[in-house]
Amino acid sequence: MLVAHTNDKKRINLVKGWNKEQLEKLRKNFRFVCPVCKKSVRLKLGSKRRWHFAHYGEVSCNLELEAESDYHLLGKEQLYHWFISQNIHALLEPYLTSINQRPDILIHYQKRYYAIEYQCSPIPLSLFEKRTRSYLEKDILPIWIYGGNRLTRKSSILFSLSPIEWAALQPHVQLDNFLLYYCSTTQQFFSLLNVSSLSSQSALSQIKITRLQDCSFASLLGNVDVYDDNWKLYWITIKKKWRYSVTPYPSRTQKYFNDYCLQRKISPWLYPIEAGWPTKHHQWFETSPHIWQTFILIYLLNFPLEYKFTFQDVYRYLKELVKTNICRIRSLPYYEGHFSYAIMSYLQLLLHSGFIKRNKTKEFFRVKEIKYPQSIEEAIKRDEEFVKNVKIN
Ligand SMILES: [Zn+2]
Repeated sequence: MLVAHTNDKKRINLVKGWNKEQLEKLRKNFRFVCPVCKKSVRLKLGSKRRWHFAHYGEVSCNLELEAESDYHLLGKEQLYHWFISQNIHALLEPYLTSINQRPDILIHYQKRYYAIEYQCSPIPLSLFEKRTRSYLEKDILPIWIYGGNRLTRKSSILFSLSPIEWAALQPHVQLDNFLLYYCSTTQQFFSLLNVSSLSSQSALSQIKITRLQDCSFASLLGNVDVYDDNWKLYWITIKKKWRYSVTPYPSRTQKYFNDYCLQRKISPWLYPIEAGWPTKHHQWFETSPHIWQTFILIYLLNFPLEYKFTFQDVYRYLKELVKTNICRIRSLPYYEGHFSYAIMSYLQLLLHSGFIKRNKTKEFFRVKEIKYPQSIEEAIKRDEEFVKNVKIN
């Protein structure tokens, strides 16, 4: 903690330019208490770590799960100064009694409150959701900024995200979504832009790196000019990977999918060209898009050509797969939607591709059969054609 109260209720904020002598004097004359749990805390003025307050021994309050690392303390302080330097009204570690929360920083910016949570250690998803929703209920927009030390980059465009990182995906003014990281050592922001879901952990995204001193809060949330359209090329590579991948220990979903395909005399690697695309809202599915989209396509074969079906039919079918945990769904507290949005967007893609049509009463009907590729080479070629000719996302 960087803020504590004295026993006579004065707020001591350690980033407000104290020198060691002043603080030692303060420590001699006062007792410090945690603003949240009111238990005594120590002022630590060591030479190795950033000066901070800490609960005694094993004691800590419900809002402080573990000792804060220096990386975290430093980042919090840097971000706080960064907001102040932009003339943004910022409070360090304010205790919001009405929701029993203490964000790292609370700011008031363009008539809106934002709770800045700089999170460098893992927390349970349930706690993440509880905090996020309690802010949103009070009309405070939480901005989770993960420690740069958490960013797991597998290649220039591939990342591995944990459940709390997925859950922190936020709508962006211009793009589909974004996710923020900040490294207090290099003083850089890492923004993941347009994060697409490949599987429960894997994500495809563009990364933008900005030095703290070169950017503003507005530019962090606002329009970006770096977005390139190469993702279509990347996506072909992803589909290729799915077609070549053989996992020695397939997940329950993968196993179900393989059996499901083989029962129908389809090779799981030669899944239909129309499946495995990033459509709007697809992040709701933790399950890889080529799997849940293939389930939909094969389900549609139950309806003969020209035979009418509704969105509800498709939704009910997927809902069963979700209920039995074959298709897994994410929790996205920033989004008001539901995985049904992803299904609807996928039906849109099938409309664009000419696989199905829709009549005036909004019923769908199939106008094509699935033409399964006969080899992986053929599949890749046809995937490339598909991406050229069909409007995706
Ligand atoms: Zn406490």
